[in-house]
Amino acid sequence: MSYTIQQINNIIVGKSTSRITNADAVISNLLTDSRNLAYAEGTLFFALRTATGDGHHFIGDLYQQGVRNFIVDESFSNQKEFSEANFIVVNNPLNALQQLAAYHRAQFSFPIIGITGSNGKTIVKEWLYQLLQNQYQIVRSPKSYNSQIGIPLSLWGLHAQAGIGLFEAGISRTGEMERAEQMIRPTIGVFTNLGTAHQEGFASAEEKLHEKLLLFKHSHCLVYCKNYPLEAEMRTINPNIQFFSWGYNDESASLNILSTQKEPLGTRINYVYQQKRDTCFLPFSDAASIENGIHCLSCCLYLGVAPAIDKLVGVGMRLEVKQGKNNCLIIDDAYNSDINSIAIALDFMQANAEHKFSKRTLILSDIMQSGLRKDDLYNRIASLCKAKQVQRVIGIGPDISSYWNLFPFDSQFFKSTAEFLEAGIRFESEIVLIKGARCFHLEKIVSVLEQKRHQTVMEINLNALVHNFKTLKSLLKPETKTMAMIKANAYGCGAIEVAQTLAHHHCDYFGVAVADEGVELRAAGVVTDIIVMDPEPNSFALLTEHHLQPEIYSFDLLRQFIDFTRRQGITGHPIHIKVDTGMHRLGFLPEEMPALVRMLKKSPSVKVGSVFSHLVASEDEGQDAFTLLQMERFKQASDYLHRELGYTILRHILNTSGIERLADYQYDMVRMGIGLYGVGINHVDIQNIATLKTVILQIKKIAKEETVGYNRRGLLMRDTVVATIPIGYADGLNRGFGRGNGYALVHGWKAPFLGNICMDVCMIDITDIPNVQVGDTVTIFNDELTISDLASRINTIPYEILTGISNRVKRIYYQE
Ligand SMILES: *Cc1c(COP(=O)(O)O)cnc(C)c1O
Repeated sequence: MSYTIQQINNIIVGKSTSRITNADAVISNLLTDSRNLAYAEGTLFFALRTATGDGHHFIGDLYQQGVRNFIVDESFSNQKEFSEANFIVVNNPLNALQQLAAYHRAQFSFPIIGITGSNGKTIVKEWLYQLLQNQYQIVRSPKSYNSQIGIPLSLWGLHAQAGIGLFEAGISRTGEMERAEQMIRPTIGVFTNLGTAHQEGFASAEEKLHEKLLLFKHSHCLVYCKNYPLEAEMRTINPNIQFFSWGYNDESASLNILSTQKEPLGTRINYVYQQKRDTCFLPFSDAASIENGIHCLSCCLYLGVAPAIDKLVGVGMRLEVKQGKNNCLIIDDAYNSDINSIAIALDFMQANAEHKFSKRTLILSDIMQSGLRKDDLYNRIASLCKAKQVQRVIGIGPDISSYWNLFPFDSQFFKSTAEFLEAGIRFESEIVLIKGARCFHLEKIVSVLEQKRHQTVMEINLNALVHNFKTLKSLLKPETKTMAMIKANAYGCGAIEVAQTLAHHHCDYFGVAVADEGVELRAAGVVTDIIVMDPEPNSFALLTEHHLQPEIYSFDLLRQFIDFTRRQGITGHPIHIKVDTGMHRLGFLPEEMPALVRMLKKSPSVKVGSVFSHLVASEDEGQDAFTLLQMERFKQASDYLHRELGYTILRHILNTSGIERLADYQYDMVRMGIGLYGVGINHVDIQNIATLKTVILQIKKIAKEETVGYNRRGLLMRDTVVATIPIGYADGLNRGFGRGNGYALVHGWKAPFLGNICMDVCMIDITDIPNVQVGDTVTIFNDELTISDLASRINTIPYEILTGISNRVKRIYYQE
């Protein structure tokens, strides 16, 4: 199904100032982010204004790349410059996008399942996809596209051959769900649960529940768990709705769960449905998976589809970046292969492609159940590859092999994964994206190409990083600039990856500690402004060569930098003036401003880019009086500088907790640190980004009264099952956690540290934890066992825990 631009103009009611030069242009793709352009032909670009940018600025670029159809708002006055383009003018391009999606959705009468709730939306959607795919042709949102922009883009994928649609809706503030409902119009609803996430956009938990339930305003039936008593509230919104409820030992529920029993490989669920007892097995055992699994079981029973939940597999939502052999970088997305997710993964590859890789390679299997004709499908994939500069495709499977002539000259094709592995193809200095349908088992290829790693790893969730960045930004005015502090290897999380990710989201400045950290970022292709907080005089040459901007905190340092730049014949090198308003560490005192101004006025080789100061206790309410004094001193000093220098300089003073608590003082820029990395104050929705985990090396039964570890400090008070894990204080696991002062998690259970922590290993008590085996994962910190918990156990601060994780712990990055 496709629309001409004229039809779209009628649907979204373009204004009279619209200019349609080619009314028959057929639109097949919608685009909102200019970086994701795949094929110009048939693309309609919506120039959206978001917190991070204005799409109208990219129209010129897109026009050059061949895009000819644009939705703009009235502020856009350059239509004449683009003589071949169609412009539809509307009040608000986002509304137009949503209107178009709603219209398109209304063309179809098959069931649409709408999923919302605080957690589990994407898992439930993906699991339903696994369960229903033999019965129906399915259209679903790719990954977790559940926002005000993601929803309409997902709905655009609906087509007449489909039999059911699965869409998720996420909201962060009042009013959004009503708009989501008008677009999705789900006939069947699934409410996953109500948590505390995203609370800040709502006045109360009741308001949040009410808002979420609005998604089901026109649904016939709602699937939900009785733990969330929502029927009364739901009826006020939609009096005719039916309920399919489930509950534990609750005869009033449609599905009565009698028991859930942990078994070695998962959970047995015993239930009664329509007066019949039955049982099924879910191959997961954590609480969240059980809840999600029962939601899916309920949907299957309601739809009359066999609930084969024993076949469910973990949702491979993660794009994992892995170090490959021979200097390759592997992007592992081996479990996802619909065409939308290919486009997303190729974008991710593009964002990660550094100069040091000689080639971009895609390993791709046949695509199953795309709903497209094969030649259409592989033609689209080939043009995506071209747009994203893929230089070589390794195709696996009979279908893709038969379209070999569409792909770049260097490409190779194999009938099966086994045939590919036998060929022993060599990869060198390439960035390799691996994607495919599950049945091709491309994970075997990943494990051959991947560099075997140290068993202790820290996983970094780049989505959560971006979430935190956006959350902090949402507390600020849209025009306030942001600096991300990525000193100390981005607080241990990896400076290059963090910088690349945030640069992609329009972070304005990066702050590093020393010049070498800045040079590393430049080498990785980061072009954002970088401020070096501690610029040593012997690094000045590096600074100027790599366009790094020093913090200047004393007359001595200023004099030396002026001398250096003057000798080099440089003019106007940006510097950043640090004022000491109370930390009494580095910086000019406020009373030194007049002398500073005199010196700066005589020195054209440097130019002040910004003036800033650092708060000593922005997180501490008890010190607010002093914080305000610091603010006052900063205001005086920076006003003076601003006035006397006579040109615009940015001012900034807030760090993370300053942003969270004292946003009135945001000035022109803020500096984000620990909040990006997952530690914030309670009422702000900051997500953990780091998970430190390892594996069990050995398990032993040791008798009561023996001791474990050095100096006999781990005296066993009972017969104990001891597991040894390869992480010690040299990895950053503080010795303070030893002797039961801390614990790790094994299968979600607490396993206390036994005895003293050694340099490279330590021991944990797993006596009470069933079915633990060598090789099982042990978690040191994650979303539940937080870095803040750990810090408070040993009387330190989260900063020290994170930055203490040593370099030999491999960092692994993933995106959902
Ligand atoms: C590290 C640092 C920050 C970031 O502080 P957080 O508390 O981590 O947000 C801000 N400003 C300066 C000058 C810093 O050195």
